[in-house]
Amino acid sequence: MNLKTPINEVAGVGESHVKSLAGLGIETIEDLLWYLPRRWDDYSKIVPIREAKPGEQISVRGVVKQIANRRVKNGMFLTEAIVADNSGLVKAVWFNQPFLTKNIHLDDEIYLAGQIEFAFGSIQMTSPSYELAKNDTDDGPIHVGRIVPIYPEIAGVTSKWLRTKLKPLMKYIYSIKDYLPEEVKSGEGLIDLPAAIRQLHFPENSLQLKKAMERLDFDEMFLLQLAVLNARKNLAREQAITVPYDENLIKKFIQTLSYELTTAQKKAVWDIIQDTGKNVPMNRLLQGDVGSGKTVVATMAMANVASAGSQAVLLCPTEILAKQHYAKISNMLKPLDMGCALLVGSTPKMERDELLTKIREGEIKIIIGTHAILEKDVEFWRLALAIVDEQHRFGVDQRVSLKKESLSTKTMPHFLSMTATPIPRTLSLTLYGDLDLSIIYEMPKGRQKVITRIIPAEKRVDSYGFIRKEIETGRQAFVVCPLVEEKEDERKSVMAEYEKLAHDVFKDLEVGYIHGQMKTEEKELAMSKFVSGETKVMVCSSVIEVGVDVPNATIMIIEDAERFGLAQLHQFRGRVGRGSHQSYCLLFTTSKNEVALKRLNALVQTDDGFKLADADLEIRGPGDFIGSRQHGLPDIKMKNLMNLELISRCRGSAKGLLEKKEIMDFPLLAAKMGNFDKVLDLE
Ligand code: ADP
Ligand code: MG
Repeated sequence: MNLKTPINEVAGVGESHVKSLAGLGIETIEDLLWYLPRRWDDYSKIVPIREAKPGEQISVRGVVKQIANRRVKNGMFLTEAIVADNSGLVKAVWFNQPFLTKNIHLDDEIYLAGQIEFAFGSIQMTSPSYELAKNDTDDGPIHVGRIVPIYPEIAGVTSKWLRTKLKPLMKYIYSIKDYLPEEVKSGEGLIDLPAAIRQLHFPENSLQLKKAMERLDFDEMFLLQLAVLNARKNLAREQAITVPYDENLIKKFIQTLSYELTTAQKKAVWDIIQDTGKNVPMNRLLQGDVGSGKTVVATMAMANVASAGSQAVLLCPTEILAKQHYAKISNMLKPLDMGCALLVGSTPKMERDELLTKIREGEIKIIIGTHAILEKDVEFWRLALAIVDEQHRFGVDQRVSLKKESLSTKTMPHFLSMTATPIPRTLSLTLYGDLDLSIIYEMPKGRQKVITRIIPAEKRVDSYGFIRKEIETGRQAFVVCPLVEEKEDERKSVMAEYEKLAHDVFKDLEVGYIHGQMKTEEKELAMSKFVSGETKVMVCSSVIEVGVDVPNATIMIIEDAERFGLAQLHQFRGRVGRGSHQSYCLLFTTSKNEVALKRLNALVQTDDGFKLADADLEIRGPGDFIGSRQHGLPDIKMKNLMNLELISRCRGSAKGLLEKKEIMDFPLLAAKMGNFDKVLDLE
């Protein structure tokens, strides 16, 4: 037998166990050794019975003086035993385990472990763990009298079963190869991997257990940091087109704007222009709250690229957004005598063919569009800059396909992602690693605060009255219907709300709807009617929230608001308050849940996206803030993701290693790190 031996060859592992374990991906001895405990019960203290005090968690060792089953009411069984050592007696009781009398016999030497209680004038243990002394391994008992591992629950596989099976397999642990380089281990004072795994299953003492946990926590974060830093190191080896700064152009552009750029916007533009001036690809994240003015920053960067005779693309998650950007950006570029092109899924074939030729020949410099830009046959003459708006909507593969080589230069584009998602600092450090960050930390001057209210069921009717009044003064309203799970039917939830509003509540007003399952032309028509002001109330699904700009819309109604995350609610709210009129965000909810209301209240209290992210984190805990699906990091414990000290320790260590060596010098480490590569591109 060795690490690769299938577990069904291990003595006492039955078919049903194999099945249960297979469900967790455990197929070999090695897999089983890597199945680590979730927590530990400390029963390491073995005390004379007379010294056992109520409330203590301990083990005792004695002789069974009495044991019997008793049937009590409701057909329940009670097993009672008296165990004595030479200092005293303790009573043990178990419920509904009559088979115990078959395992434990009079005069057996036995260990009991659990909490000591005081009952009926003597000490007692209820449902203690037990182990017969005759089963002691050369390392003593394994379920009692030590720090005992408790494993994550699996149907049909108990912790006791796992301990029994794992104990004799410990000898294989030393064949597990330690992937961590010796210099990292000794530099950080970490124990060896096999020793750590062994201590996690069967800790010698709490100090050793602590060291084992430290080693594994370090590994998780170290591998992540290493992957992040290594990706960056690789990127730094790529060539990008150097884009000189066209000062005249940028000055002219700024003069044509009807507003003054905020300091934060200017700084962001400057960051980008400096980065794109280098021959190493930029990898920058532009973070700025909804409405903070990221589009104009992107436009200036693209104009600077076009002026140098190179190309830039702006990728948008939806067609609606791409078209809106196209319209706005064309307008901004006009005074500079610059044009741009739109490339989306619905672009007709003839037009598309023509566009592709112009892109290939470098005639078109600025291209705005959707996934359609990523198609294989779209080739660039000199792609210098790729910008992705609201990047969290794009997956790994799209990011990869953006790394297109230019026909004339064989270079990689500079890369900029833009996001309004406020991510707490600890998380952004971890997830983005050394990605360069520009933050637009201030809003344009003169923005109105959106008034936010929680509307319980009994106030709904009044609210409709208020909305009607607003509409009568010329304003418009959004109604967002929840679609939290992807499997839910978006169309259904939107249409139900639409029916209610169009045929009852606002039957005399123009009500429209839009959802992701509509055809592109239908969506466009619906949207243009809303933009023109013809549609007064727009019922929409949560799927279309990103980026839509209708300054005359002043009311944002969110149905079942408690079902959304704070970050998303904040995004919805950002759709209003874009014009000069006072705007409102009404959070409809029937929830009485305290936590839910607390979260909604945070939204009422603050309009700062970063503060909201922190509040969400505090109220719900990190697990909910970025559910595993969102953060996409398969093996990282949340508590590690939030541990700044661990993050900076691991970052430092990974940096140190990569400065001196290549990851390829450590094949085991490189293989282990490979698991994280996919994740990074999600960033
Ligand atoms: P977001 O960062 O959410 O993408 P946008 O770029 O769509 O925000 O900008 C929101 C609105 O603010 C747009 O109508 C834009 O013209 C306007 N805007 C951008 N920058 C400024 C500024 N410095 N002063 C005033 N208005 C601005
Ligand atoms: Mg935007």
